[in-house]
Amino acid sequence: QAKEEGRNSVRFFVEEMNEEIQKRKEILEDIAIALEADQFELFLQPLINLKNDKIVGAEALIRWQHPQKGFISPGAFIPIAEQSNMINRIGAWVIREVCRLINQMDSIGLPPITIALNISPVQFKRENIFESMIKITTKEKVSPKRIECEITESTTMENVERVIQIMHSLRGAGFKLAIDDFGTGYSSLSYLKQFPINKIKIDRSFIADIETDDDSASIAKSIIQLGHSMNLTVLAEGVETEQQQQWLINHNCDLLQGFFRAKPMPFEQFVEWVKGTC
Ligand code: C2E
Ligand code: MG
Ligand code: MG
Ligand code: MG
Repeated sequence: QAKEEGRNSVRFFVEEMNEEIQKRKEILEDIAIALEADQFELFLQPLINLKNDKIVGAEALIRWQHPQKGFISPGAFIPIAEQSNMINRIGAWVIREVCRLINQMDSIGLPPITIALNISPVQFKRENIFESMIKITTKEKVSPKRIECEITESTTMENVERVIQIMHSLRGAGFKLAIDDFGTGYSSLSYLKQFPINKIKIDRSFIADIETDDDSASIAKSIIQLGHSMNLTVLAEGVETEQQQQWLINHNCDLLQGFFRAKPMPFEQFVEWVKGTC
């Protein structure tokens, strides 16, 4: 009896695993098609200066409207793409598209804001991300100064020496660098000191309960102080309420990003938003 049950659960396990593998394979095939068929789009979310309420930049966030399956969030397909070389293809598309949008903004006469893009830890590990950034921005005639690379804290964990070296190359070429989701990874402070970054982004999990949870509030305060002591700009992610914004103003945080002020939006809408606030 027990043996029979064991065998059955093994069989279910194998079936589930096969299904999982099948699903992944299908998504990877769909991503390849999506790249060809232009199904991806970058939404832009404003980054706002808490001192003067002005927009200082925007984060580019990938969106995928699948013709049959509908909207698929980056949280669902990026991790799958990261398990293959597909993430490099998506990454290259993102850089090209960011350049295109910057050129478009300039041609309309918007202020020369910085656009932040997310670089997957896998891109740091596997490809020569510095070379592709240079190649693409040169070809598209976009100054690296207009682009900020967001790197999650976990990226910086493995292979720190190599990561620091790539960071220096990027900074040397003029790109800006931000540590994303700060506080959720385990980067040691001694490394943080060596990173040639200009910004840290406090993870939104701390901002979410900043008024109700003393620990989150203490962590946020410490990150703001730490950042400022290192001459870094500190941004709070995921600000959803006026109370959270006020807390951040009271505690001298520099920048804000969140639904309370603006959601990520398609390019045309973003242009209108910027025109309306400048
Ligand atoms: P992230 O880089 O930390 O991006 C911020 C995420 O927080 C975005 O989710 C954004 O829509 C969301 N967000 C912004 N304000 C608020 C708020 O007030 N409340 C809440 N609840 N959420 C807010 P999104 O667009 O779903 O992206 C999720 C993650 O997927 C990103 O986290 C990033 O790690 C990854 N991602 C997105 N676009 C790209 C991309 O082009 N390339 C790569 N490699 N990763 C990407
Ligand atoms: Mg980000
Ligand atoms: Mg983040
Ligand atoms: Mg995140």
